[in-house]
Amino acid sequence: MSEPIVRVADLTKTYRSGDIEVRALRGVTFDVPAGELVTLKGRSGSGKTTLLNVLGGLEPPDSGSVHVAGHEITALDEDGLLRVRREIISYVFQSHGLIPVLSAAENVEVPLRLARMAPAERDERVRTLLALVGLADHAAQRPYEMSGGQRQRVAIARALANRPRLILADEPTGQLDSETAAQIMPLLRAVVRGEGVTVLTATHDPVLLGLSDRVLALSDGEIAEEPVPAA
Ligand code: ADP
Ligand code: MG
Repeated sequence: MSEPIVRVADLTKTYRSGDIEVRALRGVTFDVPAGELVTLKGRSGSGKTTLLNVLGGLEPPDSGSVHVAGHEITALDEDGLLRVRREIISYVFQSHGLIPVLSAAENVEVPLRLARMAPAERDERVRTLLALVGLADHAAQRPYEMSGGQRQRVAIARALANRPRLILADEPTGQLDSETAAQIMPLLRAVVRGEGVTVLTATHDPVLLGLSDRVLALSDGEIAEEPVPAA
């Protein structure tokens, strides 16, 4: 097993609304080895989104620690988190989250602009990324001119733009039909191999688990590793 890129220790998180307490994470501990595709499974409400959000620094845990590529996420200030989110961790959401008025190419370019990459280099990187996700011929299309699967592929290209070490993908196929969904996981699989990035994805689609290197099952706020089912 390679060096872990993610180390999670004793993570807890409880949501309170009025008198109701939901213990979303009850002491979650695991590592993600670098260069693997790891899938978090668990039924709706089991805490998958909470866990990914805490890992990406989008919300704080109540206790416990998260290290990503040597950075202690739970101890970073706002600036530190912004830097980590620009350079180390990127997201693919269930709903693509693309900017509607921008073309596929311009959406992929956004993180490169934020990172102040020079224009010529930027154009080259955008072309490479769109080709990687099979959308070289769709660079000028806006999100509403693309299918759900194409939009999600643009979102993956955008997530790869700044060569992150870790991609967090929260039910990336959740809004796609099963045929389209079946194309996204192999793409993530290829990206893990080709770009050397680590992917942690949440899904409750059993068909997609077979492509993972490792399956973590989240149930009632606790986690256990399970064997990877045959694809
Ligand atoms: P999953 O992604 O596996 O469906 P979530 O992490 O979204 O699970 O939710 C885990 C539990 O925490 C659920 O019971 C959910 O209702 C609750 N929860 C999530 N976010 C909030 C919030 N902001 N406020 C209150 N409860 C929440
Ligand atoms: Mg969720």
